[in-house]
Amino acid sequence: MQKVFEDIVSVIKDAFPGQAFIRLHAPVFAGDERKYVLDAIDSTYVSSVGAYVNKFEQMMCDITGASHAVAIVSGTNALHLALKLAGVEREDEVLSQSLTFIATCNAISYLSATPVFIDVDKDTIGLSPDSLRQFLDKNARKGQDGFCYNKHSGKRIKACVPMHTFGLPCRVDEIAHICDQWNIILVEDAAESIGSIYKGKHTGTFGQLGTFSFNGNKTVTCGGGGAIVTNDEKLARRAKHLSTQAKVPHAWEFVHDEIGFNYRMPNLNAALACAQLKQLNSFVSNKRDLAQMYQKKFKSINVSILEEISDAESNYWLNGIFLESRHQRDEFLKYSNDNGVMTRPVWELMHRLRMFSGGDNAPLPNSEWISDRLVNIPSSVRL
Ligand SMILES: *Cc1c(COP(=O)(O)O)cnc(C)c1O
Repeated sequence: MQKVFEDIVSVIKDAFPGQAFIRLHAPVFAGDERKYVLDAIDSTYVSSVGAYVNKFEQMMCDITGASHAVAIVSGTNALHLALKLAGVEREDEVLSQSLTFIATCNAISYLSATPVFIDVDKDTIGLSPDSLRQFLDKNARKGQDGFCYNKHSGKRIKACVPMHTFGLPCRVDEIAHICDQWNIILVEDAAESIGSIYKGKHTGTFGQLGTFSFNGNKTVTCGGGGAIVTNDEKLARRAKHLSTQAKVPHAWEFVHDEIGFNYRMPNLNAALACAQLKQLNSFVSNKRDLAQMYQKKFKSINVSILEEISDAESNYWLNGIFLESRHQRDEFLKYSNDNGVMTRPVWELMHRLRMFSGGDNAPLPNSEWISDRLVNIPSSVRL
């Protein structure tokens, strides 16, 4: 077996000593999780009304600096609702990354819109402003109605969804600027980037709407959950309304004024989320220490590793290293998983999946280069 594989695995085993099988990302419940969940049960408010849901929303505002946060059952549902609030409609196109988790594209599809893929930057592995600008200059025109249209498909390009991959902030200020010029609504998929800051602002707060996930594998988890953040009070009010079956508030009447969703986070999950969010700072600094240690050690054995760009403060949700080729990547995946270290390749690129193939996308050389080489390595918070 290649010497470098042994070296990589030994760096990882040094970081997580005494574990027979080192998981990619295990949750840590070392705070008030039990206390809050039991308290939610004792209150009898376990469902979508309860003190922890409100507390969770307040905490998300405090953490992100957004003026409004709405608790949602999952990150996927949060993105679906955010895109609906952004005005995405049937037949629209939504610009996003091919290098992302399937949920991004599924959420776009729930609105019968089509994802169109832009390349990522090689350093942030998030949506590339250069690729976006080039794509729009070549393929888009401003319509008389003020909206942006794709010259070739004739479809309206309503929104753009960059994703902060593995917690690394992408160049979202530049993306916001380009979206403004073209009248495209920016919705950030910040599912992986709770606690990640770019140019002093929390990720998810650069566009009209941002969404987060609290799934079991994320930096902060509540079992399953999500959130929408926005600075627009009207959008926030509508998000809450639509996520609670569009019920018109009344003490006893059941009146609903449009087709809504059962998308509000239950109080039980919110209790867990509140206990976890209290530990966000310590989780992030713990993960940043691990990333720094990895970066130093991998450089010394000439293995390239993902690093935040300047002006970015990543939560380092998942660390990623680059192997030299797809073949070497596959060999390393086998070697490491056979030797007690859980590793994973990046997701299959979206434009290669049957449902999302065949579109007129931007050239995607960086996405393809990264997907051939990137491997995620264990990145849990260490107790
Ligand atoms: C986890 C994740 C989601 C979806 O979150 P769920 O809470 O699992 O629905 C969406 N987008 C990205 C990029 C994710 O990593």
